[in-house]
Amino acid sequence: MKRRDLIKSFTMLPLVGSIFPIESLLSDPVAGKDISLNLRQKPMPELHRNAFVMDGHTHVMSRELLMGTDIGQRYPDGTVDLPRAREGGVDAMFFSVYTPEHYYPGRLETKNTFRVINLALDQINKNNEMIELALNASDIERINKKGKMAAFLDLEGGYDLDGDINLLRALHRLGLRSMQLTAHNTTNAFVDTCNDISRWGGINDLGKKVIAEMNQLGMVINIAHASNDAILQTVEASEHPVIYSHGGFYSIVPHPRCITDEAAKAVAAKDGVIGIHFGSLFNNPKYWAWQQKASNETTPASVQLSARTLEEVDKEFAKEVPLNFKGTIPDEYWMHVDQLARVIDYGVNLIGEDHMAIGSDLDGGPELPREIKDISDFPQITIAMQKLGYSDERIKKILGLNWLRVIRQVTEG
Ligand SMILES: [Zn+2]
Repeated sequence: MKRRDLIKSFTMLPLVGSIFPIESLLSDPVAGKDISLNLRQKPMPELHRNAFVMDGHTHVMSRELLMGTDIGQRYPDGTVDLPRAREGGVDAMFFSVYTPEHYYPGRLETKNTFRVINLALDQINKNNEMIELALNASDIERINKKGKMAAFLDLEGGYDLDGDINLLRALHRLGLRSMQLTAHNTTNAFVDTCNDISRWGGINDLGKKVIAEMNQLGMVINIAHASNDAILQTVEASEHPVIYSHGGFYSIVPHPRCITDEAAKAVAAKDGVIGIHFGSLFNNPKYWAWQQKASNETTPASVQLSARTLEEVDKEFAKEVPLNFKGTIPDEYWMHVDQLARVIDYGVNLIGEDHMAIGSDLDGGPELPREIKDISDFPQITIAMQKLGYSDERIKKILGLNWLRVIRQVTEG
């Protein structure tokens, strides 16, 4: 048994400066339930245990930033922490640090971005027994060999970096190796998003400069949340493959956040990768139709919040964390994980198995399928793909090897 495999079946947690096996925490009153049963009952196919598993979009650090908590500890709520990620057999994550719209009106986004990345580095260091920062594909493999998870930093919502490419360079120096071009759902100074106004008809000259700089620095360009034109133009402008870290297919659910076949084919033609989101909104047509009926939601994503101080914004945002979905889904609209597998299958048929992956958006608010409660249930996606009759080789690509390939092409190419 490889060391990494061993880690997947036996989790070690750092606690108060020393290391205890997870069994010593089994009666953890915080969790309020019998974790040992939980652990032993959760199915993990051998294939999942042995495969390299990477999530293309896992939200981290919002809670740690606002509550002063530690991602190395098991939370009783939310969907992501390091112990549960290990239980889910996750070997690496696009460690998505997030600066939401709340920070834009006061132009606090750059400050937030730097403090959240700084915190991510602190938290990764603090939990060094479990996770290390990866700057490239070789790092990921080296870290996994030690039996640890790898964190590959991805920024969501840097707004426009104050229009200053030097800030991009500074973030790169800090260890950021992937960035969404868009400011989350908001059109910024250089790229249009898919659910805000189109200001540039895609990307503008500054956008092209940012892309060229990211190519030069060896940073992964993430075009999730971008408009269709912005995706096509980014693919065209970039020397390297680009990724679409989390979303669904517009042909399945016509939500603006889902990628069109045209854009998906363009991403794949440039050797890029698309990560399928775990949420019903982007993947379950029935749920989408129900949501459409339930709300006449046409509000543009443009920032409508008033400018406030950093402390005030923190307080407001803190009310929302953890950012997991908190509603209830009527039985008839609550999808099974098989539906996610069908969406993956649509992608495999459209653009091929070398371009499909997973970008869960856990702790970012997806309406999870019945079988997935949190990141510890990651093996469910493998089980669902196995039911499709997929070969082990294909499943391994989708579970992580495609992300690893694209990271290698960009960071070591
Ligand atoms: Zn997102």
